[in-house]
Amino acid sequence: MSITQSCTGCGACAVICPQKCIQMKENILGEYTPHINEASCVRCGLCKKTCPQNNQPDLYTPQLCYAAWSENSEDWIFSSSGGVGACILRFCLKNGISAYSCDYDYKINLRHFRIQSIEDVRRAQSSKYSQSNSFLVFEEIKKILNAGEQAVFIGTPCQVAGLRKYLKKAYSGLITVDLVCHGTPPTKYVRDHLSALRLDKQAKKIRFRGEYDQCFTVWNDDSIVYKEARTTDSFFKAFYANEISRESCYSCQYARADRPGDITIGDFWGLHDLKTIERKSERPSLVLLNTEKGKSFFEGVKPSLFYEERNCQEGIAGNGRLKRPPGKNRLAKYFRALYPVVGFENALSGSSLVVRVINKVKK
Ligand SMILES: Cc1cc2nc3c(=O)[nH]c(=O)nc-3n(C[C@H](O)[C@H](O)[C@H](O)COP(=O)(O)OP(=O)(O)OC[C@H]3O[C@@H](n4cnc5c(N)ncnc54)[C@H](O)[C@@H]3O)c2cc1C
Repeated sequence: MSITQSCTGCGACAVICPQKCIQMKENILGEYTPHINEASCVRCGLCKKTCPQNNQPDLYTPQLCYAAWSENSEDWIFSSSGGVGACILRFCLKNGISAYSCDYDYKINLRHFRIQSIEDVRRAQSSKYSQSNSFLVFEEIKKILNAGEQAVFIGTPCQVAGLRKYLKKAYSGLITVDLVCHGTPPTKYVRDHLSALRLDKQAKKIRFRGEYDQCFTVWNDDSIVYKEARTTDSFFKAFYANEISRESCYSCQYARADRPGDITIGDFWGLHDLKTIERKSERPSLVLLNTEKGKSFFEGVKPSLFYEERNCQEGIAGNGRLKRPPGKNRLAKYFRALYPVVGFENALSGSSLVVRVINKVKK
């Protein structure tokens, strides 16, 4: 696989470049990739040395596993699973720890930002099914850590790996939380989809999970202007069918039990009977504690949770993305060929047409 295909878009190369001659830009598939200004490049090689796809970061074996729910039942509605992500952010806010998480801005760019209020926690909670530009906060995090303060970063495993490679040294003040992830499509596809729905000018907020679970839901200022189930919305269907993820997601090196983060959060699929607490909702969060630092940080978050310790094997067994990357749908190849020419919606319908024709010819 070429480096262009394996690039996860973490942006560590661009942020580390001493000449600032690497820019992260959308390629013809809408994927953020590094573009080098050859004229200013001094061939120092720092970008290659920093890239987590060239030099895999240390991975940690989970030591402790919990099934957990936020004590605040509102989080069971607004978060993706049990609301552990939201509890981590609230703990940081209360204790003056700088925490970074993501949401779509008013132009529907998904970007990481620093959590500064309870409203920011509400914006951050719930899964956004496209790729966030997390590299925008890497330099700020480094400054905080260099000042001897603590910082918490929540993101996909490739983003956590990118941040750690960029930072180079293991800061004691840094806590990384990686998500179990089944792939991220470029955010450009979300904007293309909104445009096809003629909602690009109106859309102020979008959600996939949480309150409007498994529905692609779009708000203008206060009201819902579009809501369609994952089985009928074209973007959502293609996301779950593994047709539109970034190319690197199909061979993700972090879709395994060993993790790049101090803490891992995900959906606790395959949770058996609980012994000490009753089930709070159908969607428990899976929490894996992978380092001593992660364990001691999580002790602070625990008072805001209902939780029970479980066997790590149970947490891993039910979750395919802790074992292998998602299988690439055969439609993906045709989608990628068609997208630059005919655009998002036509590439989706075009790819299924191509596969139907191929199947017919084969028969
Ligand atoms: C693209 C994607 C695919 C996922 N696939 C799986 C899967 O296959 N299996 C599984 O078990 N879990 C998966 N998850 C994780 C899962 O759905 C929940 O995010 C996780 O269970 C935590 O839920 P929570 O209720 O504890 O946290 P919440 O309170 O909902 O907090 C979630 C945190 O994740 C951050 N986040 C949301 N979207 C993104 C994003 N695109 N990039 C970076 N950070 C983000 C939020 O800002 C927030 O801090 C996926 C998440 C994403 C974003």
